[in-house]
Amino acid sequence: KQFPIKFSQNPNSLSKKEREAILKKPGFGQKFTDHMLIIHYNDEKKWHDAEIKAYGPISLDPAVCVFHYAQEIFEGMKAYKANDGRILLFRPEANAKRFANSAKRLAMAQLPESIYLQAINEFVKAEKNWIPDQEIGSLYLRPFMIASKPYLGVKPSPEYLFMLIASPAGSYFSKDAQSVSVWVSEFYTRAAPGGTGEVKCGGNYAASLAAQQEATKNQCDQLIFLDSVEHKWIEEMGGMNIFFVFKDGTLLTPPLSGTILPGITRDSLITLAKDKGLTVKQEKYSIHQLIDDIQSKKISEIFACGTAAVITPIGKIKNSKGEYIINEGKSGKITQELRKSLIDIQFGNVIDPYQWVKVV
Ligand code: PMP
Repeated sequence: KQFPIKFSQNPNSLSKKEREAILKKPGFGQKFTDHMLIIHYNDEKKWHDAEIKAYGPISLDPAVCVFHYAQEIFEGMKAYKANDGRILLFRPEANAKRFANSAKRLAMAQLPESIYLQAINEFVKAEKNWIPDQEIGSLYLRPFMIASKPYLGVKPSPEYLFMLIASPAGSYFSKDAQSVSVWVSEFYTRAAPGGTGEVKCGGNYAASLAAQQEATKNQCDQLIFLDSVEHKWIEEMGGMNIFFVFKDGTLLTPPLSGTILPGITRDSLITLAKDKGLTVKQEKYSIHQLIDDIQSKKISEIFACGTAAVITPIGKIKNSKGEYIINEGKSGKITQELRKSLIDIQFGNVIDPYQWVKVV
Protein backbone atom coordinates (compact mmCIF):
# COMPACT_ATOMS: atom_id res chain seq x y z
CA LYS A 1 0.00 0.00 0.00
CA GLN A 2 1.86 2.98 -1.37
CA PHE A 3 1.04 6.46 -0.16
CA PRO A 4 0.18 8.65 -3.20
CA ILE A 5 2.87 11.26 -3.92
CA LYS A 6 2.21 13.46 -6.95
CA PHE A 7 5.13 14.52 -9.10
CA SER A 8 5.04 17.92 -10.82
CA GLN A 9 8.10 18.63 -12.90
CA ASN A 10 9.81 21.97 -12.24
CA PRO A 11 9.54 23.76 -15.61
CA ASN A 12 12.58 25.85 -14.64
CA SER A 13 14.92 23.04 -13.62
CA LEU A 14 18.55 23.95 -14.13
CA SER A 15 20.18 22.78 -17.33
CA LYS A 16 22.58 19.82 -17.22
CA LYS A 17 25.47 22.23 -17.66
CA GLU A 18 24.37 24.49 -14.79
CA ARG A 19 23.77 21.53 -12.51
CA GLU A 20 27.09 19.94 -13.27
CA ALA A 21 28.90 23.17 -12.52
CA ILE A 22 27.32 23.13 -9.04
CA LEU A 23 28.07 19.44 -8.54
CA LYS A 24 31.77 20.01 -9.18
CA LYS A 25 32.07 22.37 -6.23
CA PRO A 26 28.95 22.02 -4.08
CA GLY A 27 30.07 23.49 -0.73
CA PHE A 28 27.55 22.78 2.03
CA GLY A 29 23.91 23.78 2.40
CA GLN A 30 23.87 26.65 -0.07
CA LYS A 31 22.61 25.18 -3.33
CA PHE A 32 19.38 23.23 -3.51
CA THR A 33 18.02 20.75 -6.02
CA ASP A 34 15.23 21.51 -8.51
CA HIS A 35 12.41 20.07 -6.40
CA MET A 36 11.06 19.86 -2.88
CA LEU A 37 8.58 17.49 -1.33
CA ILE A 38 5.66 18.58 0.79
CA ILE A 39 3.00 16.64 2.70
CA HIS A 40 0.16 18.32 4.55
CA TYR A 41 -1.42 17.18 7.78
CA ASN A 42 -4.54 18.21 9.53
CA ASP A 43 -6.50 16.62 12.36
CA GLU A 44 -9.35 15.55 10.07
CA LYS A 45 -7.70 14.60 6.80
CA LYS A 46 -4.51 13.22 8.36
CA TRP A 47 -1.57 13.06 5.91
CA HIS A 48 -2.70 14.32 2.51
CA ASP A 49 -1.79 16.10 -0.71
CA ALA A 50 1.78 14.84 -0.94
CA GLU A 51 3.66 16.39 -3.82
CA ILE A 52 7.13 16.70 -5.25
CA LYS A 53 7.21 20.07 -6.99
CA ALA A 54 9.44 22.99 -7.97
CA TYR A 55 11.77 24.11 -5.17
CA GLY A 56 10.83 27.59 -4.02
CA PRO A 57 9.47 29.87 -1.32
CA ILE A 58 6.33 28.84 0.53
CA SER A 59 3.74 31.25 1.79
CA LEU A 60 2.69 31.10 5.47
CA ASP A 61 0.35 33.13 7.61
CA PRO A 62 2.42 35.22 10.09
CA ALA A 63 0.45 33.65 12.95
CA VAL A 64 1.46 30.03 12.25
CA CYS A 65 2.56 28.31 15.46
CA VAL A 66 6.11 27.53 14.35
CA PHE A 67 6.99 31.24 14.21
CA HIS A 68 5.99 31.77 17.83
CA TYR A 69 6.54 28.64 19.87
CA ALA A 70 9.03 26.81 17.67
CA GLN A 71 7.19 23.55 17.10
CA GLU A 72 9.72 22.32 14.54
CA ILE A 73 11.77 19.15 14.07
CA PHE A 74 14.18 17.95 11.41
CA GLU A 75 16.53 15.20 10.30
CA GLY A 76 19.83 15.07 8.45
CA MET A 77 20.78 12.22 6.14
CA LYS A 78 22.60 11.64 2.87
CA ALA A 79 22.20 9.86 -0.47
CA TYR A 80 25.44 8.38 -1.79
CA LYS A 81 26.41 7.38 -5.32
CA ALA A 82 28.28 4.09 -5.50
CA ASN A 83 30.98 3.65 -8.15
CA ASP A 84 28.72 1.14 -9.93
CA GLY A 85 25.95 3.75 -10.18
CA ARG A 86 23.71 2.48 -7.38
CA ILE A 87 22.16 5.16 -5.19
CA LEU A 88 22.42 4.36 -1.51
CA LEU A 89 20.93 5.53 1.76
CA PHE A 90 22.53 4.77 5.11
CA ARG A 91 20.20 3.39 7.81
CA PRO A 92 17.23 5.51 6.68
CA GLU A 93 14.88 3.61 9.04
CA ALA A 94 16.91 4.93 11.97
CA ASN A 95 16.28 8.50 10.81
CA ALA A 96 12.58 7.75 10.28
CA LYS A 97 12.36 6.44 13.81
CA ARG A 98 14.26 9.35 15.35
CA PHE A 99 12.02 11.76 13.42
CA ALA A 100 8.91 10.09 14.84
CA ASN A 101 10.43 10.29 18.29
CA SER A 102 11.18 13.99 17.86
CA ALA A 103 7.56 14.55 16.75
CA LYS A 104 6.31 12.82 19.86
CA ARG A 105 8.48 14.92 22.18
CA LEU A 106 7.27 18.16 20.56
CA ALA A 107 3.64 16.96 20.68
CA MET A 108 3.45 17.01 16.86
CA ALA A 109 1.64 14.64 14.51
CA GLN A 110 3.80 11.57 13.84
CA LEU A 111 4.46 10.91 10.17
CA PRO A 112 4.25 7.11 9.76
CA GLU A 113 7.78 5.76 9.26
CA SER A 114 6.68 3.99 6.06
CA ILE A 115 5.59 7.32 4.53
CA TYR A 116 8.82 8.99 5.67
CA LEU A 117 10.86 6.28 3.94
CA GLN A 118 8.74 6.30 0.79
CA ALA A 119 9.02 10.10 0.60
CA ILE A 120 12.83 9.93 0.90
CA ASN A 121 13.02 7.21 -1.75
CA GLU A 122 10.77 8.87 -4.30
CA PHE A 123 12.42 12.22 -3.80
CA VAL A 124 15.95 10.86 -4.14
CA LYS A 125 14.91 9.03 -7.31
CA ALA A 126 13.47 12.25 -8.74
CA GLU A 127 16.68 14.14 -7.89
CA LYS A 128 19.18 11.38 -8.68
CA ASN A 129 21.07 13.60 -11.12
CA TRP A 130 21.88 15.88 -8.20
CA ILE A 131 24.00 13.37 -6.30
CA PRO A 132 27.68 14.31 -6.64
CA ASP A 133 30.20 11.66 -7.61
CA GLN A 134 31.81 9.80 -4.76
CA GLU A 135 35.10 11.73 -5.00
CA ILE A 136 33.17 14.98 -4.67
CA GLY A 137 30.62 14.20 -1.96
CA SER A 138 26.98 13.22 -1.48
CA LEU A 139 23.47 14.66 -1.52
CA TYR A 140 22.48 16.00 1.90
CA LEU A 141 18.79 15.46 2.66
CA ARG A 142 16.89 17.67 5.04
CA PRO A 143 13.43 16.41 6.05
CA PHE A 144 11.65 18.73 8.46
CA MET A 145 8.22 19.46 9.87
CA ILE A 146 6.63 22.68 11.07
CA ALA A 147 3.44 23.57 12.94
CA SER A 148 1.40 25.40 10.30
CA LYS A 149 -1.86 26.42 12.00
CA PRO A 150 -2.30 30.20 12.30
CA TYR A 151 -3.00 30.39 16.01
CA LEU A 152 -1.37 32.19 18.93
CA GLY A 153 -2.27 29.85 21.78
CA VAL A 154 0.46 27.79 23.43
CA LYS A 155 -0.82 24.35 22.53
CA PRO A 156 0.01 21.69 19.95
CA SER A 157 -0.89 22.76 16.43
CA PRO A 158 -3.64 20.72 14.72
CA GLU A 159 -1.89 21.27 11.35
CA TYR A 160 1.59 20.51 10.07
CA LEU A 161 3.72 20.63 6.95
CA PHE A 162 6.28 17.91 6.37
CA MET A 163 8.89 18.97 3.84
CA LEU A 164 12.01 17.57 2.26
CA ILE A 165 14.73 19.56 0.56
CA ALA A 166 18.16 18.47 -0.63
CA SER A 167 21.53 20.09 -1.08
CA PRO A 168 24.59 18.64 -2.81
CA ALA A 169 27.39 18.51 -0.24
CA GLY A 170 31.12 18.62 -0.73
CA SER A 171 33.51 15.93 0.25
CA TYR A 172 34.59 14.81 3.61
CA PHE A 173 36.19 12.03 1.64
CA SER A 174 39.81 13.19 1.81
CA LYS A 175 41.82 10.44 3.42
CA ASP A 176 43.03 12.56 6.27
CA ALA A 177 40.29 14.87 7.48
CA GLN A 178 41.53 18.16 8.95
CA SER A 179 41.49 18.19 12.71
CA VAL A 180 39.52 20.84 14.54
CA SER A 181 39.89 22.72 17.81
CA VAL A 182 37.07 22.68 20.36
CA TRP A 183 36.07 25.06 23.11
CA VAL A 184 34.64 23.67 26.35
CA SER A 185 31.68 25.78 27.28
CA GLU A 186 31.66 26.31 31.05
CA PHE A 187 28.63 28.58 31.26
CA TYR A 188 26.31 27.46 28.46
CA THR A 189 24.72 24.03 28.45
CA ARG A 190 22.78 22.37 25.67
CA ALA A 191 20.10 20.28 27.33
CA ALA A 192 18.71 19.55 30.77
CA PRO A 193 17.25 16.27 32.04
CA GLY A 194 13.62 16.17 30.97
CA GLY A 195 14.28 18.68 28.19
CA THR A 196 14.61 18.16 24.45
CA GLY A 197 18.31 17.22 24.17
CA GLU A 198 17.69 13.75 22.78
CA VAL A 199 15.49 14.91 19.91
CA LYS A 200 16.23 16.94 16.82
CA CYS A 201 14.26 20.15 17.21
CA GLY A 202 15.38 23.50 15.84
CA GLY A 203 15.18 25.09 19.29
CA ASN A 204 18.16 23.05 20.51
CA TYR A 205 20.28 24.55 17.76
CA ALA A 206 19.01 28.10 18.28
CA ALA A 207 20.04 27.79 21.92
CA SER A 208 23.52 26.54 20.96
CA LEU A 209 24.45 29.52 18.78
CA ALA A 210 25.61 31.85 21.55
CA ALA A 211 27.87 29.06 22.83
CA GLN A 212 29.21 28.58 19.29
CA GLN A 213 29.91 32.33 19.14
CA GLU A 214 31.87 32.01 22.37
CA ALA A 215 33.88 29.17 20.82
CA THR A 216 34.62 31.27 17.76
CA LYS A 217 35.69 34.19 19.95
CA ASN A 218 38.15 31.81 21.58
CA GLN A 219 39.56 30.81 18.18
CA CYS A 220 37.93 27.37 18.25
CA ASP A 221 36.09 25.66 15.40
CA GLN A 222 33.55 23.73 17.49
CA LEU A 223 32.43 23.32 21.07
CA ILE A 224 31.88 20.68 23.71
CA PHE A 225 28.88 20.89 25.98
CA LEU A 226 29.02 19.70 29.58
CA ASP A 227 25.99 18.41 31.48
CA SER A 228 23.61 21.03 32.83
CA VAL A 229 23.41 19.74 36.42
CA GLU A 230 27.06 19.56 37.51
CA HIS A 231 28.76 21.30 34.57
CA LYS A 232 31.29 18.53 34.70
CA TRP A 233 30.37 15.57 32.49
CA ILE A 234 31.15 15.71 28.79
CA GLU A 235 27.99 15.36 26.70
CA GLU A 236 28.45 16.13 23.02
CA MET A 237 29.28 18.84 20.50
CA GLY A 238 26.94 21.38 18.90
CA GLY A 239 26.01 18.96 16.10
CA MET A 240 28.11 15.84 16.59
CA ASN A 241 28.74 13.10 19.15
CA ILE A 242 32.21 12.59 20.59
CA PHE A 243 34.57 9.62 21.08
CA PHE A 244 37.79 9.34 23.09
CA VAL A 245 40.47 6.80 22.19
CA PHE A 246 42.84 5.61 24.92
CA LYS A 247 46.41 4.46 24.34
CA ASP A 248 45.39 0.85 25.00
CA GLY A 249 42.88 1.05 22.14
CA THR A 250 39.76 1.38 24.30
CA LEU A 251 37.08 3.75 23.02
CA LEU A 252 34.82 5.77 25.27
CA THR A 253 31.74 7.78 24.37
CA PRO A 254 29.26 9.40 26.77
CA PRO A 255 26.15 7.27 27.40
CA LEU A 256 22.73 8.15 25.96
CA SER A 257 21.55 9.80 29.13
CA GLY A 258 18.48 11.51 27.65
CA THR A 259 20.26 14.83 27.16
CA ILE A 260 22.39 13.95 24.12
CA LEU A 261 21.26 13.21 20.60
CA PRO A 262 21.40 9.47 19.79
CA GLY A 263 23.55 9.80 16.68
CA ILE A 264 23.22 7.16 13.99
CA THR A 265 26.91 7.59 13.19
CA ARG A 266 27.72 7.11 16.89
CA ASP A 267 25.69 3.92 17.01
CA SER A 268 27.27 2.58 13.80
CA LEU A 269 30.80 3.32 15.01
CA ILE A 270 30.19 1.47 18.28
CA THR A 271 29.30 -1.61 16.23
CA LEU A 272 32.19 -1.18 13.78
CA ALA A 273 34.73 -0.67 16.57
CA LYS A 274 33.52 -3.69 18.52
CA ASP A 275 33.70 -5.82 15.39
CA LYS A 276 37.29 -4.69 14.92
CA GLY A 277 37.98 -6.14 18.35
CA LEU A 278 38.13 -2.82 20.17
CA THR A 279 36.56 -2.28 23.57
CA VAL A 280 33.89 0.41 23.54
CA LYS A 281 32.68 1.92 26.77
CA GLN A 282 29.58 4.10 27.05
CA GLU A 283 30.42 5.84 30.29
CA LYS A 284 30.33 9.24 31.89
CA TYR A 285 33.63 11.07 31.52
CA SER A 286 34.42 14.33 33.27
CA ILE A 287 36.24 17.26 31.75
CA HIS A 288 38.77 17.17 34.63
CA GLN A 289 39.55 13.51 33.99
CA LEU A 290 39.89 14.24 30.28
CA ILE A 291 42.43 17.01 30.88
CA ASP A 292 44.39 14.75 33.26
CA ASP A 293 44.30 11.94 30.70
CA ILE A 294 45.48 14.22 27.89
CA GLN A 295 48.33 15.52 30.07
CA SER A 296 49.41 12.05 31.16
CA LYS A 297 49.13 10.89 27.51
CA LYS A 298 46.52 8.22 28.35
CA ILE A 299 44.33 9.68 25.60
CA SER A 300 45.75 9.14 22.14
CA GLU A 301 42.92 10.36 19.88
CA ILE A 302 39.62 12.23 20.08
CA PHE A 303 37.09 12.51 17.30
CA ALA A 304 33.63 13.91 16.66
CA CYS A 305 31.08 12.08 14.49
CA GLY A 306 27.85 12.78 12.67
CA THR A 307 26.19 12.52 9.27
CA ALA A 308 27.52 15.81 7.94
CA ALA A 309 31.19 15.48 8.84
CA VAL A 310 31.35 11.66 9.22
CA ILE A 311 34.38 11.62 11.54
CA THR A 312 36.33 14.74 12.38
CA PRO A 313 39.52 14.44 14.40
CA ILE A 314 39.87 16.81 17.35
CA GLY A 315 43.42 18.13 17.70
CA LYS A 316 42.97 20.66 20.47
CA ILE A 317 40.73 21.17 23.50
CA LYS A 318 40.60 24.63 25.02
CA ASN A 319 38.92 26.07 28.11
CA SER A 320 39.35 29.19 30.22
CA LYS A 321 42.39 27.65 31.94
CA GLY A 322 44.42 26.48 29.00
CA GLU A 323 44.88 24.50 25.81
CA TYR A 324 45.46 20.79 25.53
CA ILE A 325 46.86 19.24 22.37
CA ILE A 326 45.95 15.68 21.37
CA ASN A 327 48.19 13.51 19.19
CA GLU A 328 50.22 16.57 18.13
CA GLY A 329 47.02 18.03 16.70
CA LYS A 330 46.77 15.32 14.07
CA SER A 331 44.27 12.66 13.09
CA GLY A 332 45.08 9.29 14.70
CA LYS A 333 45.22 5.74 13.43
CA ILE A 334 41.97 4.46 14.95
CA THR A 335 40.12 7.60 13.86
CA GLN A 336 41.30 7.08 10.28
CA GLU A 337 40.55 3.38 10.28
CA LEU A 338 36.99 3.80 11.57
CA ARG A 339 36.40 6.65 9.17
CA LYS A 340 37.48 4.58 6.21
CA SER A 341 35.40 1.57 7.27
CA LEU A 342 32.29 3.70 7.65
CA ILE A 343 32.74 5.64 4.41
CA ASP A 344 33.41 2.42 2.47
CA ILE A 345 30.09 1.00 3.67
CA GLN A 346 28.15 4.21 3.06
CA PHE A 347 29.43 4.51 -0.53
CA GLY A 348 28.98 0.83 -1.29
CA ASN A 349 32.72 0.19 -1.83
CA VAL A 350 32.63 -2.94 0.32
CA ILE A 351 30.08 -5.56 1.18
CA ASP A 352 27.92 -4.28 4.01
CA PRO A 353 27.63 -7.06 6.58
CA TYR A 354 25.14 -5.07 8.67
CA GLN A 355 22.54 -4.37 5.98
CA TRP A 356 22.76 -0.71 6.88
CA VAL A 357 22.83 0.42 3.27
CA LYS A 358 19.55 0.61 1.34
CA VAL A 359 19.47 0.85 -2.46
CA VAL A 360 17.08 3.53 -3.75
N1 PMP B 1 24.52 15.43 18.03
C1 PMP B 1 23.83 16.47 17.54
C2 PMP B 1 23.44 17.57 18.47
C3 PMP B 1 23.50 16.50 16.17
O1 PMP B 1 22.82 17.54 15.67
C4 PMP B 1 23.90 15.44 15.33
C5 PMP B 1 23.57 15.47 13.87
N2 PMP B 1 22.30 14.91 13.61
C6 PMP B 1 24.60 14.36 15.90
C7 PMP B 1 24.90 14.39 17.25
C8 PMP B 1 25.01 13.19 15.08
O2 PMP B 1 23.89 12.45 14.67
P1 PMP B 1 23.94 11.56 13.35
O3 PMP B 1 25.12 10.68 13.47
O4 PMP B 1 22.66 10.79 13.37
O5 PMP B 1 24.05 12.49 12.22
